[in-house]
Amino acid sequence: MTEQHYEIVIVGGGAAGIASAARLTKELPAGSIAIVEPSADHYNQSLWTLVGAGVFPKEASQKDTAMLIPNGCDWIRDSATSFDPEKSKLSTKKSGNFSYEYLIITIGLQTNWADIKGLSRSLGKKGVCSNYGFNSLESTWENIRNLSKGTALFTQPASPIKGDSAPQEIMYLAEDYFRRSGQTKQIDVKFSSGMPDIFPVKKYAKKLDIICDNRGIEKTFHRDLVEVDADNKVAIFKDTDSNELTSIKYDLLHVTPKMATPDVIKKSLLSKEGGWVDVDDNTMQHNQYDNVFSCGDCSSLPTSKTTAAIRAQVPIMVRNILSARNGLPIVDYYNGYTSCSIVTGYGRSILAEFDYDLNPRETLPVDQSIERMSTYILEKNIMPKLYWHGLLKGRF
Ligand SMILES: Cc1cc2nc3c(=O)[nH]c(=O)nc-3n(C[C@H](O)[C@H](O)[C@H](O)COP(=O)(O)OP(=O)(O)OC[C@H]3O[C@@H](n4cnc5c(N)ncnc54)[C@H](O)[C@@H]3O)c2cc1C
Repeated sequence: MTEQHYEIVIVGGGAAGIASAARLTKELPAGSIAIVEPSADHYNQSLWTLVGAGVFPKEASQKDTAMLIPNGCDWIRDSATSFDPEKSKLSTKKSGNFSYEYLIITIGLQTNWADIKGLSRSLGKKGVCSNYGFNSLESTWENIRNLSKGTALFTQPASPIKGDSAPQEIMYLAEDYFRRSGQTKQIDVKFSSGMPDIFPVKKYAKKLDIICDNRGIEKTFHRDLVEVDADNKVAIFKDTDSNELTSIKYDLLHVTPKMATPDVIKKSLLSKEGGWVDVDDNTMQHNQYDNVFSCGDCSSLPTSKTTAAIRAQVPIMVRNILSARNGLPIVDYYNGYTSCSIVTGYGRSILAEFDYDLNPRETLPVDQSIERMSTYILEKNIMPKLYWHGLLKGRF
C-alpha cells in the first residue's frame, strides 16, 4: 500500500473543508496541503430551503468540486476509511495511506434516511418530500405547488440536525404560498417536532410561536417521526417522554431525516460520545491529539450546525493551527457564535444570532427578532455570493 505525506491533510471538502484550505494555502507552500473528498459535486446546502420553495433551481446550489479546490492544494478524490491518530496516519478507499503533521476533519453529517421506517422507499412519491437531499429538492416544490386541500405536515427529528431552522422555514414558505394562492382555508399546516420547543433561543422562540399562532399553524413538540406509511398517507410519531405512538394523516409530508457523523468517525479514536469529533469548544483542537483539529457539522462544538457558524469557526481554527505549527501558544477562542436567517415567508425573515450560552449576539442596530424584508434579501441575494466568492475563497 502506498503512503504519501502532507503537512496538512483536510478530510471532507464541503463548506468547512474548502474554506479552511482556501485560508491555509495563502500561508503554506504549494503542495503541502491535501483535501480528501470523494464527491465531484459541491453543494451550497444553505440554498436548499429556497430551492424547495421554488425560488431557485436546484442547480444554483451546485458547483464542480474541481473548480473550488484552491490553487496549491492537492485534491485526493477519495473517501477516508480509517484514522490512526497515534501514528498521524489515515487510510483511504483506493488512494492508499497518508501521513500528516496536522489533520483537519470537516466531514459533515450523513443523512440516515433508513432510520425512519418506510421513508427511503417513499421519498419523492405519494406526497412525501424533503429539502435534505439534492435529489429530493424538486419533490418539495412540486408537492407545495400541487396541494389544493388537506393537511401539510412538516417534521423535525429529536436528534441534532444541520440547518436547524430549515424544517420550519419550508413550512412558513409553504403556508405563505398556500395563502397567496387562496388555499389557506382548505389546507391545515402542522409542525411535529421531536424537540422541546420551536427554537433554542427564547427571544426568537417567542416571536416564532406568535407567527405560528397568527397563521393558524398547529405545532406539537416531543414527537419524533419513526415511520412513514406512504400507501395510507399516515405518519407515525413516538413521544420522546412516554414512547407512546401517535399517527397523523397527511396529504403533503415534508420530512427532515435523522442525521449522524459518518461511520468512519464514529468507529475511530477521534470521536466522543455521540460520534462527534472530540475537540475543545473554544480552540477546536482535539482533546487528546494536539495535531488534530475539527470544525463544522461533524465536530463536538455545542452550537447550531450551520454555514454561518463555520464562517466564524474557520478563521479561528486556521489561526490556531498556524500558531501550533510555529510553536506559538494557541490564543484564539471561538465563543459559539452562529446565526440563522429564519425565513418566515416569501420576502421576510428573522435574523437570529447567538452564542454558546444562547444569548443573542445581534449585529444590526435593530431588533432582529422582527420579520424584515432586508434580512430576507441578505439571505437570498447576498449570502449565496458570499458563500461562493467569500467563504470558499478564504475572504469571508
Ligand atoms: C436543507 C438545509 C438547509 C440549510 N440552511 C442553512 C442556512 O440557511 N444557513 C446556514 O448557515 N446553514 C444552513 N444549512 C447547514 C449547512 O449547509 C451546513 O452546516 C454546512 O454545509 C456544513 O458544512 P460542513 O463542511 O461541516 O459539511 P458538508 O458541507 O456537508 O461537507 C462534508 C464533506 O465531507 C465529505 N465526506 C463525507 N465522508 C467523507 C469521507 N469518508 N472521506 C472524505 N470526505 C468525506 C462529503 O462528501 C462532504 O463534501 C442547511 C443545511 C441543509 C441540509
